[in-house]
Amino acid sequence: MKRDTKLLHVDASDLPFPALTVPVHRGSTIVFDTVNEFLDRHRAFYDGYAYGLYGHPALRALEKAIATLEGAEKALITPSGMAAITLVNLTALQAGDGVLIPTSAYGPARQAADALLAPLGIDVTFYPPDADVSTLISYRTRLVWVEAPGSFGMEMQDVPAIVAAAHARGAEVAADATWASPLGFQALSHGVDYAVQALSKYVSGHSDVLMGSVAVADQSRFRRLKDRMKALGYGVSPDDCYLTLRGLGTLSVRMDRQSATALELARWLDGRDGVTRVLHPALVNDPGHPIWLRDFAGAGSVFSVLLDPRYSNNLAAFLEQLSIFRIGASWGGLHSLVAPADMRAMRSSSNWADTGPLVRISIGLEAAEDLRDDLELGLERYMRQFENAAQ
Ligand SMILES: *Cc1c(COP(=O)(O)O)cnc(C)c1O
Repeated sequence: MKRDTKLLHVDASDLPFPALTVPVHRGSTIVFDTVNEFLDRHRAFYDGYAYGLYGHPALRALEKAIATLEGAEKALITPSGMAAITLVNLTALQAGDGVLIPTSAYGPARQAADALLAPLGIDVTFYPPDADVSTLISYRTRLVWVEAPGSFGMEMQDVPAIVAAAHARGAEVAADATWASPLGFQALSHGVDYAVQALSKYVSGHSDVLMGSVAVADQSRFRRLKDRMKALGYGVSPDDCYLTLRGLGTLSVRMDRQSATALELARWLDGRDGVTRVLHPALVNDPGHPIWLRDFAGAGSVFSVLLDPRYSNNLAAFLEQLSIFRIGASWGGLHSLVAPADMRAMRSSSNWADTGPLVRISIGLEAAEDLRDDLELGLERYMRQFENAAQ
């Protein structure tokens, strides 16, 4: 055998490596010993190993773990949270169908509804998160999205009521339940048909992976989604699955600590000078609190504050000079973040009454005292500089 051939015949068969962790097997091609096994390989499409894009050991392990976390029959893993949302849309909807999406939904999901679904002949209707959905469902409506609480605005939705209204008219319900993670909200047990997670947030948990999931309670939905995924060419790398599995192991301790710090800071911010309102459904005075109490087992560590509009010119002085909080999108990682938002532009299809700036705050694993001091100084800058400017 020549060297080039020998180099290509490395024997990788069954090295004993009894580690605690899931192995990362990189591979596109799966090889078969017989002609018949090769010709039959598509039987392994849903659960086994037919081609690297459709399944590898770390992916199968992660699918099982997410299904367990969601109380699901099956879970699919997608290259991002946004990819999971699009997968559900393109599986549940076809030309002529209608979809209802709350105005409080994740911004890129609403943009994709206009940019992708509407040109495909799907009728897109945006609805206020507190609307009576039963009055909005038409004979065309096949899918209703819920997201509780909403992105930036933190509006709660009555998911069981929406599920009942949708199912009564033969429509399915998809929930983007990223905020509380499956530990805080079990979407399927509330009747939702497609439970979507941006695993990029709490589940992977370290701001270094982009991944999503869709969990379902039955095999037939799983197969429809998996078939669509094949058509879309979605795949996820073994390394990313590995990182997400690693994050999963600490999910509950991270969530406990981060959400406790977030609630402590939300309470501390509530009623402070410069702050008009704190939007966090676990606060007793939040309009969404009764629903949160009824349906949720926990809270995320993301909430928003509405700031006094009189000082809005000083938003940059507040946020840019924070020493621990960084300005950035995404959340659910170890580091605390702030993200300002123009809610009037974001909620263009419903009314956003408040005129002050909104800042979304995502709490990480830093000490609560340090985060509070950082916010306290920031709020002083927010108001003090205003007084200087007014002189
Ligand atoms: C971040 C996020 C997404 C999208 O996840 P990506 O992995 O970044 O695509 C979807 N929904 C919500 C609520 C999110 O916060």
